Amino acid sequence: MDECPKCKRWALYYNPPNETLVCSNCDYRKPIKYEDFIKEKDTINDLFYPSKKKKFFFFSTSPGHLTGESVLFAEELPEKIKKIEFRIVEFHFHNGDFEKWIANVFKDEKLANAISSLHGKNLQGEALRKELYNVIVSNLQK
Ligand SMILES: [Zn+2]
Repeated sequence: MDECPKCKRWALYYNPPNETLVCSNCDYRKPIKYEDFIKEKDTINDLFYPSKKKKFFFFSTSPGHLTGESVLFAEELPEKIKKIEFRIVEFHFHNGDFEKWIANVFKDEKLANAISSLHGKNLQGEALRKELYNVIVSNLQK
């Protein structure tokens, strides 16, 4: 999440299919090529988040069908899980995408394993969403 140059809120996110920076608070929109966006991100992240890798988690409804939403940091994941359509949560959960992303990008085995452990619990519907949220929040590295 970046600061919006117009409303000064930390509400800017990148919409990959449209290659646009979008503010979720006001009407600010800025078209930017994905490669340029990543280049910009690298500079920012190298300065402020030297220990974090910059690799997005892109949400999709099924393989190859992006919703246009993405997160860059594990800390952003719980809030997204709370808000996105349930079928999207379910799709990524059953695919094991959340733990793969956490393990590959952040090397956070503890959090990845905590998410994995939910697969044996036969959770469904909103109970799954809630457990996933709780597990991520309580295992995020401080
Ligand atoms: Zn704004």
